[in-house]
Amino acid sequence: MTGPGQEGSREMDKGEESVLRCRELLETLTPLRGDCGAYCGAACCRSLPGEETGMLLFPGEEALYWGREAYRLRETAQGTLLICEGTCRREERPLACRLFPLLPLLRGEEIRVAVDARARAVCPLRRVDGCRGDFVEAVRQAGRILAEDEAQRAFLLELTRVHDDLRALQKTMGG
Ligand code: SF4
Ligand code: SF4
Repeated sequence: MTGPGQEGSREMDKGEESVLRCRELLETLTPLRGDCGAYCGAACCRSLPGEETGMLLFPGEEALYWGREAYRLRETAQGTLLICEGTCRREERPLACRLFPLLPLLRGEEIRVAVDARARAVCPLRRVDGCRGDFVEAVRQAGRILAEDEAQRAFLLELTRVHDDLRALQKTMGG
């Protein structure tokens, strides 16, 4: 994968190409026409005291952050977590940050766009239709692209499972 921070070049596999296409789709589109971070103080980029801000990377995306001083990578059971400093250049945002607060869920062969259950604790945007239409459509299109690749599809299915589990839990608690 080539991109910000990568030295040299190597062959990209289909999954890595999918992530780059999705990142490009969401390069300039944001949830609202204005800067939504102005309303919430960019809550999704801020760490709570004693915590680090981290976003799960899609398979292969970690290559974009190798050797970058401003980022650290941590392996977790769910995948590679990107730890950032709470600010970044727009073109460096990982795909998870570009999709946020939405998530393309894989339901059979269909992509359904939902507010990511993990976003509910921090983001005031609680409804898909509260986001601009072209952003929602780009998230849907990203889901379709990812679902065409085996590794990305498996990752999307796992994100969907985690989302469903968390939503079920949130509902039992009145969320
Ligand atoms: S928390 Fe939600 S509203 Fe605030 S900057 Fe992040 S995506 Fe925008
Ligand atoms: S990578 Fe950038 S957009 Fe994502 S949480 Fe960190 S500062 Fe925010």
